[in-house]
Amino acid sequence: MTMTSQQLYRKRCLERHQCVRCKAPASGDVQTCEACRERLNADERDRRLARRQAGLCERCGGLPRPGKTTCEACRQRDLERTRANRLKKLKRRNP
Ligand SMILES: [Zn+2]
Ligand SMILES: [Zn+2]
Repeated sequence: MTMTSQQLYRKRCLERHQCVRCKAPASGDVQTCEACRERLNADERDRRLARRQAGLCERCGGLPRPGKTTCEACRQRDLERTRANRLKKLKRRNP
């Protein structure tokens, strides 16, 4: 499998613990520094709000379920993730 230059760049940043956006130090296995993460979160919040106000799924902009803010596909993804997390936790407790 060949990596794109974008993927290579991210990998290098991760190895050097640099933010992929501004090259500031990023700790642990995250790809962005605190400041960029906050900005990204704020962007994401705005996007979600705009979608919700437009009556769309706040995650993907799809058609939401009646009375909900997310669509069926996003709900399924959430369920999958919750299940995976629970399994991971169980494994950690009983190795
Ligand atoms: Zn940054
Ligand atoms: Zn969705």
